[in-house]
Amino acid sequence: STTTERILAVGRLMPALEQRLAAAFDVTSLAAQADPTDFLARQGADFSGLVTSAALGVDNAVIDALPNLKVISSFGVGLDRLDVRHAAARGVAVGYTPDVLNDCVADLAFGLMIDAARQISAADRYVRRGGWLQAPYPLTRKVSGARLGIVGLGRIGRVVAQRAAGFGMPIRYHSRRAVAGVAWQHEPDLLALADWADFLVVIVAGGPATRHLIDARVLQALGPQGYLVNVARGSVVDEAALLHALQTGVIAGAGLDVYQDEPQVPPAFFTLDNVVLAPHMASATRETRQAMADLTFENLAAFYATGRVKVSAV
Ligand code: NDP
Repeated sequence: STTTERILAVGRLMPALEQRLAAAFDVTSLAAQADPTDFLARQGADFSGLVTSAALGVDNAVIDALPNLKVISSFGVGLDRLDVRHAAARGVAVGYTPDVLNDCVADLAFGLMIDAARQISAADRYVRRGGWLQAPYPLTRKVSGARLGIVGLGRIGRVVAQRAAGFGMPIRYHSRRAVAGVAWQHEPDLLALADWADFLVVIVAGGPATRHLIDARVLQALGPQGYLVNVARGSVVDEAALLHALQTGVIAGAGLDVYQDEPQVPPAFFTLDNVVLAPHMASATRETRQAMADLTFENLAAFYATGRVKVSAV
């Protein structure tokens, strides 16, 4: 075609992705506008595509201000800030980037699990402050062979389970529906799973349906020898209940990649050695972020070439 499609970028994206998009399309940043509402009122009808990320999402008000919108491409897999049903009701295609990040998110879940139990980060601080010169580090908790409960056996949860096989860990999982064709035992009762598990890895979708799924009762069931790892979304865990559980020994420890009000982390966590704090970095390797950027671009390119995104979220 002789016309260049106008694409609205909700905010900043990976530089390599921004460059690739700019080379193929006429891209405008919404975040760069002095008055985004006024900008949308004047130019909203010009855009046929929108690009965003799982972290940025897009408000329904923005979708509604783009009457000729045909496609959204989102960098990431989380859809808690992108109302796919709203877009679909408008006939807008939605692409996203599942699967290419499974390995790295599962790797980080294991890293947090091992760090929380073996206290690698806390022991590193101990060595640096000269603690080792005074006394050996206290004994830690064995990971191999321990019981692993996976909350959410989706694309990523399954890869976590595959990793766990190498650690000789018995596995059970919780989700609303049992997954067909897997050997692992489904546990419809989350409290029963938490009670059984030594390690509980949370990798469900975010959003209202899973808000505070991990609450004080689940932490109580996990118990004083139990560890929680959350690589899903901060909203899934009642953060105040978790903080209290870590402070009072209701659970043994935790490894967190996500928080209720990112990038704000309640400073009370900073004083605790039984929690490992990562800055929402589970997919953040050069390899995986490049693959996510490529798929974000390819979803748009495929839509304009064929009328379909490569990987649809709808
Ligand atoms: P999938 O959609 O493949 O899996 C989601 C799983 O959650 C399914 O097993 C689903 O099973 C379960 N689930 C959904 N709602 C509920 C509920 N209310 N109660 C219990 N289980 C539920 O997603 P992915 O595996 O690809 O990704 C999972 C999430 O991980 C993403 O939505 C994202 O938020 C997060 N993520 C975090 C990253 C990070 O950087 N930390 C990076 C990538 C993803 P069922 O429907 O049967 O209940």
